[in-house]
Amino acid sequence: MEKTLEISKRRRLLLVPCPYQGHINPMLHLATYLYQNGFTITIAQTFFNSIDPNHHPYFTFVRLNDRLSNDLIVSLDVASVLLAINDNCKTSLEEVMANIVEDVVCVIHDEAMYFCEAVASGFGVRSLVVRTTSIAACISRRVVLQLHAEGCLPIIQGSMEDEVPNLHPLRFKDLPFSVHSDISKMEKIILKMYSITTSSAVIWNTIPWLEPSEFTQIKTKICNQVPIFPIGPVHKISPTSSSSSLLSEDSTCLSWLHKQPPNSVIYVSLGSIALLTNQELQEMAWGLANSNQPFLWVVRPGSIRGSDGTGFVLKEFQKKVGDGGCIVGWAPQREVLAHRAIGGFWSHCGWNSTLESLSEGVPMLCRPYSGDQRGNSRYISCVWRVGLTLEGHELNRNEVEKSVKKLMVEEEGRKMRERAMGFKRRIEDSLREGGSCSRNLKELVDFIISF
Ligand code: UDP
Repeated sequence: MEKTLEISKRRRLLLVPCPYQGHINPMLHLATYLYQNGFTITIAQTFFNSIDPNHHPYFTFVRLNDRLSNDLIVSLDVASVLLAINDNCKTSLEEVMANIVEDVVCVIHDEAMYFCEAVASGFGVRSLVVRTTSIAACISRRVVLQLHAEGCLPIIQGSMEDEVPNLHPLRFKDLPFSVHSDISKMEKIILKMYSITTSSAVIWNTIPWLEPSEFTQIKTKICNQVPIFPIGPVHKISPTSSSSSLLSEDSTCLSWLHKQPPNSVIYVSLGSIALLTNQELQEMAWGLANSNQPFLWVVRPGSIRGSDGTGFVLKEFQKKVGDGGCIVGWAPQREVLAHRAIGGFWSHCGWNSTLESLSEGVPMLCRPYSGDQRGNSRYISCVWRVGLTLEGHELNRNEVEKSVKKLMVEEEGRKMRERAMGFKRRIEDSLREGGSCSRNLKELVDFIISF
């Protein structure tokens, strides 16, 4: 073993994250683990949403010239940004590769940075793809493409509540992007993401026992040409890794949390992309206040459509709730969820947030917004039964108040917390020496060393 590590120490891995928070985090955790296991790490990142290299002194950072226009960046159109990045960064990555090709053992890239596969293969270098959603999300994206190809979209309004055939427990309304809209851009990205031609393996941020039938399906029918390494929850494999947050974390909320009783606080965070209307913000605020539960609420700068929202929240609302609530712009989420004062998580159900919550045994109040979040929410409430969903198109303060109380103080919530604690224990077992996650990680390292 020592010998293999020595050999691998001289070998470099080139990692290419997709420049959104929910993709950067898992890639940086993986990078830390691989570094700790003897590899040298180079991260190629776009100018857009780049992380601060000073937080990761053990890695070498290089830039990809994404040539994104300011208009495109401010449009917040994720699909167009991703298409532009994949079109524009090829030459930059080729230049990077030309400089390190003698030294590099393989390229590990996010699934959304699909241009990397052809670049690596052009240099005769192996590539591995990292998937940052659940396997169920991958399967349901394929179903949407199939429905589209068969001319079944848009779905007629009355059928949205029906279960999708062969996709239990997902209903049409849980599918991963709007079945009403023109899906051509997203379709292009997804087709590219899932058409592996030269990749040597798939690294997946999931746990097979969390979605066992989906895992079997993907392994035997959909992705049976290359090995799959399900190494999740990836944020737990390198607990010492530094923050890769694009916004600066406000740790003052931790001192507020220290003062709260165990399991009493509901943590509210809708991730790095979801946007709210001012009306939704107000319904959330007053629903939280009326529930009389202490809350820690992340109101991300720029997350309120048409205003920064913080004027209303900070001045009027904070005055009313006093020390009963703490509002920050960005929280150290993993630390927050691990805090003994946290008893529930109002989440948009991004895949990282879902895994982070399950890992700490925190039940969820689900309010999904887009993409894979609706499907994740369905699994949280109906399959794993560790959360309840805030249904309805419009947020309503009475519903918010009722749901928060149900999750935090009622019997139904207590049972969900118990089940969530079961997930935490099972995840801890998977991470232990000999557990499935730990075995899959070791196999991944051996696989890379074998190149
Ligand atoms: N996050 C954080 N602080 C916050 C809110 C979110 O550190 O205040 C992190 C969170 O821990 C997670 C990521 O941002 O790792 C969000 O990813 P997720 O997949 O949950 O949602 P997305 O932002 O992609 O919608």
